[in-house]
Amino acid sequence: MEIWRESQKDLPVIERKDVVVCGGGPAGFGAALSAARNNCKVTIIEKYGFLGGMATASMVNLMAIRNLTPYNDETFPLIGGIPLEFLKRLNDLGGTVLPDEALRLKNIDPVVPSWSNYLLFDVELTKIVMAQMLKEANVTIRNHSFITGVVKENKTIKGVIIESKSGREVIMAERIIDATGDGDVAFFVGANFDQRLDEDTLPATMIFSIGGADDEKIWAYLAKDPELKELVSKAPRYISQPDFRFKDIPFPLKIFKAKPPKGDIKKYNQMVRPGQWWIWGLHMFNKNVVDAVDLSFCEMTLRERVYETFLFLKKELPGMDKAYLDQTPVQVGIRESRRFHGEYTLTLDDLLGGKEFEDGIARGRVKDETAPFHIPYRSLIPKDIEGLLLAGRCISLTHEAATQVAPRNQPTCMAIGQAAGVAAALSIHDNKLLRRIDVDKLKSTLISQGVYITGE
Ligand SMILES: Cc1cc2nc3c(=O)[nH]c(=O)nc-3n(C[C@H](O)[C@H](O)[C@H](O)COP(=O)(O)OP(=O)(O)OC[C@H]3O[C@@H](n4cnc5c(N)ncnc54)[C@H](O)[C@@H]3O)c2cc1C
Repeated sequence: MEIWRESQKDLPVIERKDVVVCGGGPAGFGAALSAARNNCKVTIIEKYGFLGGMATASMVNLMAIRNLTPYNDETFPLIGGIPLEFLKRLNDLGGTVLPDEALRLKNIDPVVPSWSNYLLFDVELTKIVMAQMLKEANVTIRNHSFITGVVKENKTIKGVIIESKSGREVIMAERIIDATGDGDVAFFVGANFDQRLDEDTLPATMIFSIGGADDEKIWAYLAKDPELKELVSKAPRYISQPDFRFKDIPFPLKIFKAKPPKGDIKKYNQMVRPGQWWIWGLHMFNKNVVDAVDLSFCEMTLRERVYETFLFLKKELPGMDKAYLDQTPVQVGIRESRRFHGEYTLTLDDLLGGKEFEDGIARGRVKDETAPFHIPYRSLIPKDIEGLLLAGRCISLTHEAATQVAPRNQPTCMAIGQAAGVAAALSIHDNKLLRRIDVDKLKSTLISQGVYITGE
């Protein structure tokens, strides 16, 4: 490879903070809020011009109801704390309904066809609520800033290098939380990781929305063909297959919107925009999503598929004949990329067996019939690196564990972020390494802040 040596240059250190949170997705939001509320001076760094990560940039506008409401005869939901508080704030603005309300509606009327175990929320209001909550906690939000490197001494991280219209700048911190999804900070600091690049890698998926549809006609069609099987059987003749793979084109195609409960349309004012429908199901496999060339190819190709799918729906789905292509995401949705070696690596057996850990800091559940599992604090600590925690999708877990949405769904990522924020704060205030903090104190602090670590 041709090499060009960059000349040495002094970079301005523009901030010194207790905690710097890298990435403003669900995990970063939870981490920044939590660290600030636990008496730290916090900056959050985000490459886009808004917060939310996959929830906003990739239009992943669903949260599992089952994480947020008690199962069967259990007393508490799996997840409380910041995720629940965030949903309450969103609900106040009409950007979602509360999980118990969603569960009640689900039982009387499928609110989201074939997705009724999920809570739909509004993407635009999510951006606003996340920023409001962080500002209220005095978090400095630095958008439009791409983290491109780190400041380190041996294996200890001391700061991050960001690039923006202002050039290259440095932000120093006592502790850093990597919530970039792909673990960019851990990568730059030299943490070891695995990355799967084959047919079984979890796909990148492009979600999009259609506007101008005739809702009544579509609801009537969905009543007859709720799984869209008949509709999709007409698809192959519309869609070509170049060098990427749709499992069964364009399956699993999902089309949905929230259905206003009878007589209560006000509550749904943001989520049931007349004529707007959300489409999921366009996947691409086997691309390196942390490589700019592959990622660009993936997004450009999927946008073409979006257009073909839109044309197909316009032609074949009754009620779509006057529809228009409403929105494609800023970024394709990513499920799996770098998986770091942590002090503990969560496995599929742990998830399926409902494994509880002494250092469990958040909970999830694979299926109704499996017991809740813990996410151990050790999965947030990258091996052999000091000063850094992983939060969200990039915690240490195996590929098999990552095939389950349970350890990486948005409420769980926010809950992991909340734990990382408290851990960073304790580590600073008690003057201990992140791997040496008092885990009982971490757990009791989380419980006092509304987190459900046990089912009692
Ligand atoms: C198609 C799809 C469907 C899904 N379905 C569901 C579902 O139904 N329900 C559910 O709850 N979850 C679902 N998920 C999972 C969930 O959305 C993600 O796992 C979750 O958003 C991960 O949160 P995170 O904060 O760890 O990372 P992300 O949401 O990826 O956020 C990372 C943030 O870091 C920023 N960033 C990254 N690198 C840098 C950098 N170098 N410099 C600065 N900023 C950076 C990004 O812009 C982003 O804002 C789905 C995911 C996908 C892709």
